[in-house]
Amino acid sequence: MLRGVVLRKAGGAWHVHVENGTVVSAVLRGRVKHAAGIKLAVGDEVLLRTEGSSWAIAEILPRRSQLVRRAPGGARGVRVVVANVDQALVVFAAALPDPNLRMLDRFLVVAEASGVAARIVVNKIDVVDPEDVRQQFALYEAIGYPLHFTSCRLGIGLDELRRALEGRTSALMGPSGVGKSSLMNAMYPGLDLRVGEVSASLGKGRHTTVGAYLHPLPGGGYVADTPGLREIGLWGLPPTALDTCFPEMRPHLDRCRFPDCRHTTEPGCAVREAVGSGAIAIARYESYRKLLDEVLAAEREKYD
Ligand code: GDP
Ligand code: ZN
Repeated sequence: MLRGVVLRKAGGAWHVHVENGTVVSAVLRGRVKHAAGIKLAVGDEVLLRTEGSSWAIAEILPRRSQLVRRAPGGARGVRVVVANVDQALVVFAAALPDPNLRMLDRFLVVAEASGVAARIVVNKIDVVDPEDVRQQFALYEAIGYPLHFTSCRLGIGLDELRRALEGRTSALMGPSGVGKSSLMNAMYPGLDLRVGEVSASLGKGRHTTVGAYLHPLPGGGYVADTPGLREIGLWGLPPTALDTCFPEMRPHLDRCRFPDCRHTTEPGCAVREAVGSGAIAIARYESYRKLLDEVLAAEREKYD
C-alpha cells in the first residue's frame, strides 16, 4: 500500500501526493468513509491501494489537528477545511494596507483553538520605517509568537521564512492584498497560489464554495491555501475555553476567584488585574472581549 497526503478534491475523486512525489487521483469508497467516522479533508493522510488500473483510498489515518469552518447554508455543525496543519502562517502588511491587529488576534485565536502553532509574517517592510514596525509587533514576540519581517520587493526575510516552512504543513492566513501570493511566488518560483481556485472553477454548473488546496513545497512540506478563510472561525469553541487561546492570560487563569470567570465584570479577576498592571496589553484584552461576544453569540445560536 502507498501512503500519501490529500491535496484537493477534484470532482468525484481526490488528488493525493504520494511518497515518491507524484500526484495520483484516487476514489473514496463509502465503506472507508464509514470506518473512519470522519469526512475526508484536504491534508488527511491516507493509504492507497490499487483497484484494477486505478487507485482507491483504503484507509484514512488519524488526524493531528484540523481547521474548521461553519457548515454552509445554515446547516448545523462544522466542516473541516484542512487537516493535519502544523502551523498557521498569519500574514499582514506593515502598510498598504495597514495592519489590523484585532484581526491578527482573531487569526491567532483560531490557530490556538485548533491546536496549531502560529507564526506572524509582517510583509512590505520596504514601505515603512522597519524600526516602527518592529515596535508595533514587539508585543507579539513577547507573548511567544515567532515574527518574520519580509519584503518581496527587496527579498528580505525570505530565506528564513522558507526554512520555517520546510517539512511542515502550514496554513496561509491573512487579509487580501498583504502579499501572500507574492511571498509564495518569491520563495518558490513557479508555485502558483491561484492554481487551486482556477481549476476548481472548472467544475461548472455548481455554485459551491471553493475548497482548500494543499501545495507541495520543493523542500518538503505543504502550504494550504484556504479560500473563504473569514468563515474559518471559532465555531464550536466553548466560551469558557477562549481565555486559554490567549497565551499571556494562561498564567493568571487559576488565580481568578471564580473558576468559570469570564474576566468581564467578576470580582477578584486576576486577568483584569493583570491588564491593570500592564502585564497583559489592553489591546489584547479588548480583542478577548470582542471575541468573547462572538463565541457567546455563536453558542446562543446553537441552542436557538
Ligand atoms: P495577497 O492578496 O495577499 O495574495 O497579495 P498579493 O501577493 O496579490 O500582493 C498584493 C499587492 O502587494 C501586489 O500589488 C504586490 O505587488 C504588492 N506586494 C507584495 N509584496 C510586497 C512587498 O514586499 N513590498 C511591496 N512594496 N509591495 C508588495
Ligand atoms: Zn477572571
